[in-house]
Amino acid sequence: MKLEEVLSELIQIRSVNPPGDELKVAEYLKGLFDQAQIENEIIQSCPGRGNFLAWIGEGRRKLLFLSHTDVVPAQAGWDFDPFSGRMRDGFVHGRGALDCKSLVAAQAWAMIWLAEKSKLRGRLVFAATADEERGGAYGLGHLIENFRGRIAADFAVTQGGEGPITIEGKPTYLIQVGEKGTAWAKLKSKGLSCHGSIPTLGQNAVLKMARAIEALSRYKPRVFLIPEVRQLIQALAELKGLDIEASELNLDQLFDQFSDKKTFAEQLRALTRLTLSPNVIHGGIKTNIVPDSCEAEVDIRVLPGQDEGYVRGELHKILGDLVEIEIPQYMPPNFSDAKSPYYKLVEDSLSEVVGDIACLPYVSPGATDSRYLRKIGVQSYGVSPMAPSFDPALARTVHGKNERVDIESLYVMSKFLTQLAKSYLGCKGE
Ligand SMILES: [Zn+2]
Repeated sequence: MKLEEVLSELIQIRSVNPPGDELKVAEYLKGLFDQAQIENEIIQSCPGRGNFLAWIGEGRRKLLFLSHTDVVPAQAGWDFDPFSGRMRDGFVHGRGALDCKSLVAAQAWAMIWLAEKSKLRGRLVFAATADEERGGAYGLGHLIENFRGRIAADFAVTQGGEGPITIEGKPTYLIQVGEKGTAWAKLKSKGLSCHGSIPTLGQNAVLKMARAIEALSRYKPRVFLIPEVRQLIQALAELKGLDIEASELNLDQLFDQFSDKKTFAEQLRALTRLTLSPNVIHGGIKTNIVPDSCEAEVDIRVLPGQDEGYVRGELHKILGDLVEIEIPQYMPPNFSDAKSPYYKLVEDSLSEVVGDIACLPYVSPGATDSRYLRKIGVQSYGVSPMAPSFDPALARTVHGKNERVDIESLYVMSKFLTQLAKSYLGCKGE
């Protein structure tokens, strides 16, 4: 069996969250690991929500490979069946091809290869967990709360890195050392129902919400350079050969230098301010009834210093008393040490596999399960490196349509992971 076939089969297992159904993926992995005679276990956080764990090697040092097995739903309008796992023209196609079943496959592949070919002097732990796409309570959150010893490690590698992007001809890999926080807000508007033929007798809650959403779209967040992002932008400017000191005042000018890489420029922009996006709206029950309630969900991403109170304050400034504001979920920004020997090892292993590249510590606008590890003091680095030829435009297919990954990148990922495990844990006889 080939690595790309493992990914194709993983994609064909529909583990869309909600509801998740990750147990089917865990059972598939169990089949692979049993066959390779690797110690493994499935831990269910509740029926159907399976987390898969496996271990090889013995020793004082411990490294964790972490990935997640659930995927987000596939919207309509794909050019191919999102759950076909189709392999064509050097690509594997389908939901999860990038986020994050490619990493599940590459981590499993590296581990099976290592079990067969080398004797590690330390412990390598593999955790393919459930529920990352909905906050991780049934996945890594459950494991940390109840089975922390099973996944204990000195440091972890997981999803969340980016790249490569080519800067002045050099493939540049971004290794995730931190991420913005998440504040998911719920807005509720109230009105008065009446017959839709005489709307002036009622108060239309959907219209009220429309005004609220319109106000959100006009929000201008304060630009704010945290040290980690300042460092990243400065390093990028230097790679570009620009003699310029990054500050809040010249950021947009700097981002324009990346206008050939729009996705990347927007990513950087998101790292310098609070972002908000109203992504779900529900209101009304029938065409001839004026609705008396409407709800909207807003995805808000925050920088350090922007706690729940700050978010509530900003929403209140924008919306006044137009709607009720709730913040049912708040997760603070979190960081790992970009100067640790672990980080250095990640960079070195990557250079060893891919050759002449640049690596930069990166802060991600999105959230991953790294935050669970960082909360308990485990350094966690987001790195799922693609081949130098990787088309950065494919990054837009994550959570979008036509998600796919090139097979070459799968092998780069798996070679990097193998190299990292060997470098950190050491091999008997080598
Ligand atoms: Zn995702």
